[in-house]
Amino acid sequence: MLIDGQTEYRIVSGGRFMLDGGGMFGIIPKTLWARLRTPDELNRIEMATNCLLVRTPQQTILVDTGYGTKLSAKAREIYGITETDALVRSLAHAGVRPDDIDLVILSHLHFDHAGGATVADLEGHLYPAFPHARYIAQRGEWDDAVNKRATMTASYMDDNYLPLRDYGLLTLIDGDDEVCPGVRVFVTGGHTRCHQVVMVESAHQTVVYAGDILPTTSHLRGPYNMAYDLFPYETMTQKSRWLERAAAGGWLLVWNHDPITPAGRVIDEGNGQYRPEPVAL
Ligand SMILES: [Zn+2]
Repeated sequence: MLIDGQTEYRIVSGGRFMLDGGGMFGIIPKTLWARLRTPDELNRIEMATNCLLVRTPQQTILVDTGYGTKLSAKAREIYGITETDALVRSLAHAGVRPDDIDLVILSHLHFDHAGGATVADLEGHLYPAFPHARYIAQRGEWDDAVNKRATMTASYMDDNYLPLRDYGLLTLIDGDDEVCPGVRVFVTGGHTRCHQVVMVESAHQTVVYAGDILPTTSHLRGPYNMAYDLFPYETMTQKSRWLERAAAGGWLLVWNHDPITPAGRVIDEGNGQYRPEPVAL
């Protein structure tokens, strides 16, 4: 946890899962990425879903929600998921109940970011997981999700986001915007056409939730990008732009899928190289 003035930042876990290492590193040969992350016998590497909880005197804000509790037994096996209800338990540990969340900002609508946005009861009825929250997503991301514009068919699952609209809790925005005082979103594209990052500014600290353009500290180098990116070159250019600004400004970055280093600053070492400096959050 980090307290800056009246703003409190904390990483909350949406649960861990396993994903194919090759998928996480795209064009990078396994001989190189395996030096950074050791794969299991199924070639999978461990992934976190580090969500960002921000508390101000006015608002309790959650950025992304992990994969949630609705995945089938088969999907749980594929992704090596053993945790149940990780997000709710992690929030409870921080003293936050689902009812307390005022705002949920979704970087994009892939299942490992938006899955925790809704819950199902025993009869399979779907509800928003945070009943008093306003949910924010980019309109273009919504259109792509509803129309399944993805290279991986499992990425977009209607159950994760249609109930938000049906319950009237969804606000779709177009492009860069200030969603509440001190909290801004910026469309980066790259990973998905309208993927967005979230920037929170408090008294002395800027915190950037970079979403899937910078998923882990193993992705700081330009070409180390996910095979799932719809626009890899855009990921590279956006990443270098955000890293440059983060290093210059002493910003804190959240690496949402990093199982070891969820957050930290970056040191510019020249020639497009950045070194992560972990900060406990
Ligand atoms: Zn994604």
